[in-house]
Amino acid sequence: MFKSSTPKKTILIIGGSFGGLTAIQYLNSSFNVILVDRKQFFEYTPNYPFTLFDPNYIDGMTVSLQDFAKTHKCQFIQGTLVQLLKDKALIKQSNEEILDVLFDYCIISTGSQYASSIKPENEIKTIQQRKEQIIQQIQNLQNYKKVLVVGGGPVGVEIAGVLSDHYKNLKVHLWNRSQELLYSFPEKSRILADQILKNQGVLIEYNKEVNQLPLTEFDQVFDCRGNIYAPSFMIGEFQQCKSYFEILIQNKIKINKQNQQDVDSQGRILVDEYCRLTNHKNIFCIGDACLTPNNESKMCYNAAIQGQFTGQNIISLEKNSKSLKKLEGTANVFLITVNKQNAIQCFGNRVSQTSTSNKHSLQNKAIKSLQGSCFYSFVSSFSRRMIILISGCQKKKQPQSVNKQS
Ligand SMILES: Cc1cc2nc3c(=O)[nH]c(=O)nc-3n(C[C@H](O)[C@H](O)[C@H](O)COP(=O)(O)OP(=O)(O)OC[C@H]3O[C@@H](n4cnc5c(N)ncnc54)[C@H](O)[C@@H]3O)c2cc1C
Repeated sequence: MFKSSTPKKTILIIGGSFGGLTAIQYLNSSFNVILVDRKQFFEYTPNYPFTLFDPNYIDGMTVSLQDFAKTHKCQFIQGTLVQLLKDKALIKQSNEEILDVLFDYCIISTGSQYASSIKPENEIKTIQQRKEQIIQQIQNLQNYKKVLVVGGGPVGVEIAGVLSDHYKNLKVHLWNRSQELLYSFPEKSRILADQILKNQGVLIEYNKEVNQLPLTEFDQVFDCRGNIYAPSFMIGEFQQCKSYFEILIQNKIKINKQNQQDVDSQGRILVDEYCRLTNHKNIFCIGDACLTPNNESKMCYNAAIQGQFTGQNIISLEKNSKSLKKLEGTANVFLITVNKQNAIQCFGNRVSQTSTSNKHSLQNKAIKSLQGSCFYSFVSSFSRRMIILISGCQKKKQPQSVNKQS
């Protein structure tokens, strides 16, 4: 059993990425903070497509969580959350031992998974393993003749864009379930994406449904049909929606039934307007892993904003303040890389072409502040800059939900 020896209350943060690391900034001086992640590093996901140009790019987009913990005065445990209880988490470590960690508050920021190695899978634990995986991917692409990208959301457009730009001998096919790319984005961005990809030689087929993968006629299929949510640790004390419940039973996972639903049919953890589980007032969920009443787009700046405001709300709760901040809707902000030099920029309804240098500079600021002790600048360089950029369009339109499925 792991129990803090300090008189401070303990906050357990599961998931060291945009949401979890931002929350730590607001909590580490008042609480004993324990960070748990199954891998040893943070990866700046939005710039993954640039690694397909150059594997060394990964060096600049990762930070060791152990180093982060040192500079941010918290404790890091590498392990996987396997079961969450109301005041205790069971963490499976690399030696297969289960560690019980007691907490006063818990923030779940376990994000989402992505198929086709676009985000590091469960087996990837170190930066070195991730780099080797990317080098292998590049070697394969150099020998491939024909690949398929399934899904024309922002991630599918990015992957088809960088592959067609960089691998000149490769035929890139893109199949999209609907009749336009980027279907939840403004019309101008859909037209731009179609034009740019076609100019780069991508063979786009619309209204094409994929029922079964892999498809053997292609050397590789990049499955870009959206986020995958799998909070299998939400068992026992938590209530699952019926279809998720059936998946757990199929996998022989024991569950108890309660009245209130905590996990929806896709596996997203349901929270209230304070990012809090309805039945468990000391447990919060932020970022990709949750479904809030606003159903925000699954984006890193939304995860960071939720981390910031949850951190502030927990401090208010400790001060017995009755006025907690409520989540506000945000506009969609996306920089969609289409080739080495260019990205399509969407701020709410405003669409333009921009240089990818904006994406590199956002990453550099975020990484520098994670490496130093000045975490505040991570939030300000990332979330605040985005808030300022979107503030003009925020009031004009209700947020749309970005569903990355094709
Ligand atoms: C290719 C691509 C491009 C993108 N581009 C953009 C963009 O331009 N702009 C934008 O805003 N968003 C973009 N996104 C979305 C953005 O990356 C996500 O919204 C963001 O990463 C979510 O952050 P998070 O903190 O919720 O979780 P994640 O980043 O998903 O991190 C979750 C963390 O939890 C850990 N974890 C998970 N389960 C467990 C467990 N059981 N036990 C312990 N640890 C666990 C994981 O190892 C991981 O470190 C992009 C996504 C992709 C895939």
